Amino acid sequence: MGLFGKGSDGRQFHFKTAAEIELMRNANLIVSKTLAHVASMLKPGITGKTIDKAAEEFIRDHGGRPAFKGYGPKQNPFPASLCVSYNDIVVHGIPGSREFKEGDVVSVDCGVELEGFYGDAAFTFAFQEVDAKSMDLLQVTYASLYLGIEQAVHGKRVGDISAAIQEYCERQHGYGVVRDLVGHGVGRSLHEEPEVPNYGKRGKGPLLQEGLTIAIEPMVNMGKKEVYQMDDGWTILTRDKLPSAHFEHSVAVMKGKADILSDHSYILDEIKNNPNLQEVLPKS
Ligand code: MG
Ligand code: MG
Repeated sequence: MGLFGKGSDGRQFHFKTAAEIELMRNANLIVSKTLAHVASMLKPGITGKTIDKAAEEFIRDHGGRPAFKGYGPKQNPFPASLCVSYNDIVVHGIPGSREFKEGDVVSVDCGVELEGFYGDAAFTFAFQEVDAKSMDLLQVTYASLYLGIEQAVHGKRVGDISAAIQEYCERQHGYGVVRDLVGHGVGRSLHEEPEVPNYGKRGKGPLLQEGLTIAIEPMVNMGKKEVYQMDDGWTILTRDKLPSAHFEHSVAVMKGKADILSDHSYILDEIKNNPNLQEVLPKS
């Protein structure tokens, strides 16, 4: 789940100890395995509702709490354990009864709370056969996530992450990087300071220091960057109706190299075993 960009309100960052980072790794392990469980189920005809129910059971069976369920404003909390966002839905899609079919690109976003710490990660799946342009969008967006993570090291700034993602997706590939939603601090809450936009300037923004834990989550549109929200108060769609992609990791800022707390390898293994899905790897 992303955060609506509001600008920093100046709250202090929550730096995590090594022990707290391990608790976050545990929460993220459930997230990663839940997404892998979803990957194992995906087939044409399956609905968002079905995978959401399975995901909630999986999370609870592993001792976690689905962090998205009930999140948000009291009068309109998010009703599900997963965000399921297909094709022109960017993020925050409410799992529904639409049956997925060949050619769909489906982002599944999962958050888990375990022992007071949060994990958050997302992956966009390709239902065979996805057209070449959509596959390119997925691979570029996925690669941009790792370009962002490369910058998440002690001594750099949030803007270094933002600029790495934006430059790759917009300047090199001509896509539209979503402005209205951003990555975020994560750990003791699902959304903490600082905001981690997918656009920005190198050398600007909050200083990254060891123990800062953040969710990096490029949301990238094949066409223009503009999005709008449906009247359900959640679902975000592209204005031009072209598809969008979304990949997310929770990471801890470290000296030299970020520590990636969520683990997509479980998902990638299930994709390999599932003939209904096309492999998605970061564009090299
Ligand atoms: Mg998320
Ligand atoms: Mg998030």
